[in-house]
Amino acid sequence: MSQISLTFPDGNIRHFDAGVTPAQVAQAIAPSLAKAAISAMVDGQHWDLQWPLHADARISINTMKDDVPALELIRHDLAHIMARAVQEIWPDVKVTIGPVRDYGWFYDFDRAEPFTPDDLGQIEAKMKQIINARDPVRTEIWSRADALAYYESRGEPYKVELVHKIPEDQDLRMYWHGNWQDLCRGPHFQHTGQVPADAFKLTHVAGAYWLGDASRPMLQRIYGVAFKNRDDLKAHMTMLEEAAKRDHRKLGREMNLFHMQEEAPGQIFWHPNGWTIYTTLQDYMRRQQRRDGYVEVNTPQVVNRKLWEASGHWENYRENMFIVEVDEEGAREKVVNALKPMNCPCHVQIFNVGLKSYRDLPIRMAEFGSCARYEPSGALHGIMRVRGFTQDDAHIFCTLDQVESESKKFIEFLAKIYSDLGFDKWRVKLSTRPEKRVGSDEIWDKMEAALANACMAAGYPYELFPGEGAFYAPKLEFVLTDAIGRDWQCGTLQLDPNLPERLDASYIGEDGAKHRPFMLHRACLGSFERFIGILIENHAGKLPFWLAPRQVVVASIVSDADPFVEEVVTALTLAGVRAEADMRNEKINYKVREHSVGKVPVILAIGMKEVEERTVSVRRLGETRTETMTLDAIVAELAAAALAPDLR
Ligand SMILES: [Zn+2]
Ligand SMILES: [Zn+2]
Repeated sequence: MSQISLTFPDGNIRHFDAGVTPAQVAQAIAPSLAKAAISAMVDGQHWDLQWPLHADARISINTMKDDVPALELIRHDLAHIMARAVQEIWPDVKVTIGPVRDYGWFYDFDRAEPFTPDDLGQIEAKMKQIINARDPVRTEIWSRADALAYYESRGEPYKVELVHKIPEDQDLRMYWHGNWQDLCRGPHFQHTGQVPADAFKLTHVAGAYWLGDASRPMLQRIYGVAFKNRDDLKAHMTMLEEAAKRDHRKLGREMNLFHMQEEAPGQIFWHPNGWTIYTTLQDYMRRQQRRDGYVEVNTPQVVNRKLWEASGHWENYRENMFIVEVDEEGAREKVVNALKPMNCPCHVQIFNVGLKSYRDLPIRMAEFGSCARYEPSGALHGIMRVRGFTQDDAHIFCTLDQVESESKKFIEFLAKIYSDLGFDKWRVKLSTRPEKRVGSDEIWDKMEAALANACMAAGYPYELFPGEGAFYAPKLEFVLTDAIGRDWQCGTLQLDPNLPERLDASYIGEDGAKHRPFMLHRACLGSFERFIGILIENHAGKLPFWLAPRQVVVASIVSDADPFVEEVVTALTLAGVRAEADMRNEKINYKVREHSVGKVPVILAIGMKEVEERTVSVRRLGETRTETMTLDAIVAELAAAALAPDLR
């Protein structure tokens, strides 16, 4: 029998018979390791303990202490265990697919009656029984014919369809959890008892079309979350409750910021309050960009197909584009256009006008670019995931030698903005060369070093994501952590030698010859729409004063105070504060309650005592006590607070 050599994380190399499994390898190292083992990493791939190894490889054995593989197995095994539980309770339910997702998993079922909350409780109880039974998990390779025969005999049409979809040359792997089985790539645990029985919860049911296709049957998707222990699950459930309270769709209604309607799915009707946040943020961003040496441009919405073909979007991105056909000359010639899904190709058109010299570089070209992307309706989420949005987009045209300093400059730019907007916790991810790529190793070495050095020089150590870069260059991603611990990827910096090549951008170098510039695609907020959603949820609607759409309500206690109310509103308005009067014939407590729901940060109450003393009674959002201040003092204080952080 032939031998293979396995390299361990400590550099040790050991020889085994070909066909050895990671379970046997762990046993050979130490019985205690074999007992703790849950899976292995083999050349970076997550590997089942039962899968044989036929070639030399780098290997490490995973235990429950390794969070990423442990959580993946817990969640993936639970998807299978849930499907088994459902079919044990209701044998006529048809199974489909059930992937792992953030914090948990889901599984889609075809069942005539809807699942009720009681059903979810019953399924959970059955799942716990399956876990406690410690049923062995087995993996088998099946032939296509056997798999088809098996699923046809059991009346599982979705599985039959899935088997047909798997390429002919690919093995079909079956996973058994006890005597229930599912078509699955794996890996999995060794027995069901390895899943913590007290650290998962089925959260909700939603409709989902089979394969996301609205012409196919509507299935029922059951969602679950799972963790390594009960405390983690509890913390997550608390976070979800908090997140529901902060949901930007709910706050958007209460604060009267925006609405959306059926006639324009995934697009936003901004109301005056919401648009005030938007324009305030945009004004702020425009000032930052000017200060940092950007020029601002604006490019067309509707662009001929030819440009998208040249840029590669037509080939690779068409299913996400809105195609617009125009009948230009009677019916004789049709022109096919697309709404722009990205601004980059248009920016290269501006760069390409006129001869550029190395002395012109870098050119930092910014656009608040309105883009349209077709997202499936199931993926839409409030103003966070939409079809029409505006990026704080820019492209930096530069030489390879300038990439490092431009990247450092951008990281510093972004750090200041995040801090101004109230996010002090964020991190940088560096994604490097993937297996399938273009360009020489020498260029990749330079590109990766430039981004890595830029992070270190700016003082922000990066996390490395090997193999996650685009096929033409590495990238940086910037991930914010919000007030309740959720992560949001907002900023990006994608290096790109590819698009300038495709669209024939060039400059004249010091040597008098033509050269290709590099492009840096970069965004700080991502899109205004999504970022405003994040801001609302991060601050639970209590935006920093300068961003609050309604900053002050001046409320009368008696109608004789009305003239002074108007005087106060005028004084605040002239001082640059967004102030409005509430002179309705309502009780002051009623007014305070209503404006608190609307998240107005400051309410000034005025009765006859205040009129006589030319003072106001100040009530701040979230506080129950009031304080009396003179008109001049409150105007001065609020005028200062209304300034954006960069103008103070
Ligand atoms: Zn599976
Ligand atoms: Zn771009």
